[in-house]
Amino acid sequence: MGRNCKVLIVGAGPGGYVAAIRAGQLGLDTVIVEGDRAGGTCLIRGCIPSKAVIHAATRFEELGAHAGDGDMGISLPDGPMLNMGKLVEWKESIVDKLNSGVEMLLKKAGVELVRGWATFRDGKTCDVETSEGSVKITAEHVVLATGSRATELSFMPFGGNIISSTEALELGELPERLVVIGAGYIGLELGIAYRKLGCQVEFIEALDHILPLYDAELVRPISMWLRKHKVPMHLSARATEAKTRGKTTTVGFTDADGKAQKAKGERVLVAVGRRPCTEGWGLENMAIDLDGPFVKVDTRCRTSMRNVWAIGDLVGEPMLAHKASAQGEMVAEIIAGHRREFDPVGIPAVCFTEPEIIGVGLTPDEAKEAGIATTVGKFPFAASGRALAMQAGTDGGFVRITARRDDNVIIGIHAVGAHVAELSGEFAHALEMSARLEDIAGTIHVHPTLTEAFAEAALAGLGHAIHVAK
Ligand code: NAD
Repeated sequence: MGRNCKVLIVGAGPGGYVAAIRAGQLGLDTVIVEGDRAGGTCLIRGCIPSKAVIHAATRFEELGAHAGDGDMGISLPDGPMLNMGKLVEWKESIVDKLNSGVEMLLKKAGVELVRGWATFRDGKTCDVETSEGSVKITAEHVVLATGSRATELSFMPFGGNIISSTEALELGELPERLVVIGAGYIGLELGIAYRKLGCQVEFIEALDHILPLYDAELVRPISMWLRKHKVPMHLSARATEAKTRGKTTTVGFTDADGKAQKAKGERVLVAVGRRPCTEGWGLENMAIDLDGPFVKVDTRCRTSMRNVWAIGDLVGEPMLAHKASAQGEMVAEIIAGHRREFDPVGIPAVCFTEPEIIGVGLTPDEAKEAGIATTVGKFPFAASGRALAMQAGTDGGFVRITARRDDNVIIGIHAVGAHVAELSGEFAHALEMSARLEDIAGTIHVHPTLTEAFAEAALAGLGHAIHVAK
């Protein structure tokens, strides 16, 4: 079987499927190839299922607060009961809904979804093994969107008790103890969720701090939560070996003083980063340059080969779904003849820890390093009526705005606190529009909402916050 098309997209994750929908909308004859389920890591085994598990874990912990004497005058004498199998089933139902939604959107946009793994023979031709036999697809434009996979530690490959985030989202039974290697995005999001579900969690992190992308002030509320919930955090520590006997795996590691230590668990989650998927699909048969482990692209996501494009995790940091989608949409429009470039002022990143943490643009330290004189405005959620009324004002959270001192143009916005992820849109918008402190302070924010903390942080930057004394 053979098929010729204008645009061939490989990988139906948030990069590839968005590129395909946009290409379809623009009237381009488009084929997307996917070997797994449409939706990619984000939708099938990453962002969405993890947010479902995190939500369920938070609900379970909150209900637990009503056990015994209760909380807020509400008591649940016997406390909540957990059925991990049903929790995973519920999470799967959300994944199924989104997966069929993506397939429906592709169909409605006139995109052909070919199910199977593609292998490229050259820059414009691939073979796909489908259930109905091999299909040869030739295209004028190729968009590579193969994503990334979890990095393995050579001395403890995935399998059995050693799991990646994929298996961590499918555990039908709650392990009594979970050892997490790596206190970055994935390790902390899932480790905190499992702690909320009642598991004993212990971290081994190579650096001397958690969440390397954020500064000390921002991660303090998360460290506080971990301490309060008795989660051992071994910093400047390196895992060296893992031995499984019966149901228990013992992880050997060296601590900050170079001493050999051990951590035991029924499961060990390895979350030490992700690598772009550049192997197993014939990249070597295409004349494409790499940039370290990533496919090299320019600001239009063009690879070194004419009319071959690459997007998402495959092309570098930040490995975030929304970056991939933005690039996918752009590439489809460029192929259709639009003038576009990938040049965002900032790409917001959220970590769904307890509490949540969000950042877009420069931190005060990064601005200083870049030689920019700054004004910093900060507002604590402890002074927000809405936060207190939602039991979200006591976790040490705050909004922090970094602006250029000479003209008050905002160059970075960071926040930590319960529910702050939902403020990320306003933050990204402000940065993208080159808002000044006066623009944010002068925008009437709804009372009582958490967004008022953003306006108050801008006022603080201007030297006259209302709801916090100087
Ligand atoms: P990460 O880079 O965020 O964190 C990995 C951590 O592992 C680092 O702190 C690192 O110092 C540590 N580490 C590395 N080797 C180690 C070793 N041998 N022993 C102990 N610690 C070690 O990576 P991740 O958490 O695996 O996430 C991967 C990617 O997925 C990230 O690029 C992130 O952008 C993305 N992601 C995003 C979200 C989100 O946006 N909410 C959530 C999850 C993942």
